[in-house]
Amino acid sequence: MFETVIGLEVHVQLNTKTKLFCSCPTSFAEHQNSNTCPTCLALPGALPVVNKEAGIKAMRLGYAINANVNHSSNFDRKSYFYPDSPSAYQITQLHKAIVQKGELFIELKDGTQKRIGITQAHLEADAGKNIHDGNHSKVDLNRAGTPLLEIVSEPDMRNSYEAVAYLKKLHSTVRYLDISDANMQEGSFRCDVNVSIRPKGQKEFGTRVEIKNINSFKFVESAIAYEVQRQTEAYEDGIYDQEVYQETRLWSVEEGVTKSMRGKEEAADYRYFPDPDLRPLVVTQEMIDEAQNMPELPDAKVKRYIEELGVKKYDALVLSSQKELAYFFEEMLRSGAGAKNSVNWLTTELLGRLKKANLDITTSPVTASKLGELVSKIDDGTISGKGAKDILDVLMEEDRDISELIDSMGLAQVSDDGAILEMIDKILDANPDKVEQYKGGKEKLFGFFVGQTMKASRGSANPQKVNELLRGRLG
Ligand code: ADP
Ligand code: MG
Ligand code: ZN
Repeated sequence: MFETVIGLEVHVQLNTKTKLFCSCPTSFAEHQNSNTCPTCLALPGALPVVNKEAGIKAMRLGYAINANVNHSSNFDRKSYFYPDSPSAYQITQLHKAIVQKGELFIELKDGTQKRIGITQAHLEADAGKNIHDGNHSKVDLNRAGTPLLEIVSEPDMRNSYEAVAYLKKLHSTVRYLDISDANMQEGSFRCDVNVSIRPKGQKEFGTRVEIKNINSFKFVESAIAYEVQRQTEAYEDGIYDQEVYQETRLWSVEEGVTKSMRGKEEAADYRYFPDPDLRPLVVTQEMIDEAQNMPELPDAKVKRYIEELGVKKYDALVLSSQKELAYFFEEMLRSGAGAKNSVNWLTTELLGRLKKANLDITTSPVTASKLGELVSKIDDGTISGKGAKDILDVLMEEDRDISELIDSMGLAQVSDDGAILEMIDKILDANPDKVEQYKGGKEKLFGFFVGQTMKASRGSANPQKVNELLRGRLG
């Protein structure tokens, strides 16, 4: 039997206004190579100056993962030659990163928490892009010098479920912190997966293989499954040492396999050394204050939702997993809705309808305050759950006034004691024999009276009120 060992390296593109070492914008540029300057083009003599905003955003992640945030950190050069890097080296932080020794907690299937260690998070500059076009290859350096935060985990994960749970937690955390848009399709949250296996009980780790640049949670899962099988088979066939060596592989989406990208012979020699052009990144008190000014994070939300709002753990985990969802929920509460119905109406009724319409919470035609208003009408008995569903269907199509809809659709529940009592008395008068039986101990008949009253009201009576008043009348 084998055990899988996984460590992840995640590249998060920081959403700073300007690049890491120059003042070129990081925003979209209409023309190739237009967001460039002597520094990010690596022209001789141009000197890099570190971007304070990038430092603050890296620090913010550091505080969020209980890490050590170094008040002085250094930049190193990682040498490699590739057309999309005009300097022929990447500026990164190898020896003393800005963030070291952090942690993130993931929720396992059995409901327990597991701690995943984070070795470090370091700042580095992104490369440009090579564009292959028929017989030509072009280089666009608009992205060159964009700040990346590389977050390196300890080899603490033991299966793909844990790896994906860690990635989702990290993804959600950087989005809460507003340090990256973390869009996986667009490459602002990229992941390298390191995988090895070892016989159960063995202390030493096996040889790890690094699978580069996977851009979806689903592919992370598939790539790990494939790689574990490949390594296990090699072990069982007695050819582990020949087949599994420290290398970089790629996940082929089309073929569903990992493929060798760089052979053993071409193993890179990066010749790291301290960048002589850059002074240490020294943190000021102002930067610390700004970095520590952060929103409530998922773990704290889960705790608060459960303890203060009485939300079930499963729902609390779902709601907190995405900041847009959590903020939607909290806005519903602010507009007067109770927590219990809000959870249900958000996660089941609204999300279900959005999914059907190919929308999501960020593109919902129904706003949080609108759904909150609707839910508060259920909470106070103005409308029934059934009526609210009909109204929500309308709101998905067009923005309407809820009170007006209740009137025009005739959905107001009768909650008025007098009106309901009148109906109840008619039912009881018409069924003296059943009242006799009920009082003689046939308690099942209570349901019959409720049903008859609801029927008499043509469904408009507030069922809770009917129950309450019937109990009073029947003693
Ligand atoms: P490098 O700098 O060459 O990428 P690191 O030592 O920084 O190497 O490790 C990179 C990643 O590989 C880390 O996320 C680490 O947790 C993971 N890792 C290290 N050893 C193993 C292993 N035996 N199996 C799986 N992952 C590993
Ligand atoms: Mg690495
Ligand atoms: Zn520039």
